[in-house]
Amino acid sequence: MDCPKCLGELSAVFQGVTNVDRCGNCQGLFFDQLTQALLEAVMVQAGTIDLGKGEKDSAFDDMVYVECPKCDKIMDQRLIEEPNRIRFELCPTCNATFLDAGELREYISPRFIEDFKSLLPE
Ligand SMILES: [Zn+2]
Ligand SMILES: [Zn+2]
Repeated sequence: MDCPKCLGELSAVFQGVTNVDRCGNCQGLFFDQLTQALLEAVMVQAGTIDLGKGEKDSAFDDMVYVECPKCDKIMDQRLIEEPNRIRFELCPTCNATFLDAGELREYISPRFIEDFKSLLPE
């Protein structure tokens, strides 16, 4: 599978209740599926799977048309602007989710977690 944003190569970084792949180029994270129920298990892994934000990665943050690498459908933008800006891609068909580098760590922090959860399917 290729990264839906930069077409870099995805490789597995976590396998369990959901499978997580990381892009070798933009370091974005692709979740086989991500739901409120699965979040707990993923949070525990955040420190190892999310390498954080590098300088060149921010170029991919603002991409709007992102195709799900599993279904080739345009992924939904899940978005909250206030009080904290959260934006990520979720596939309406298979619940696959893409987070840019650093977003997982940010979105599971106390300031973001409740809003992030509310954007995920149950
Ligand atoms: Zn990428
Ligand atoms: Zn999909």
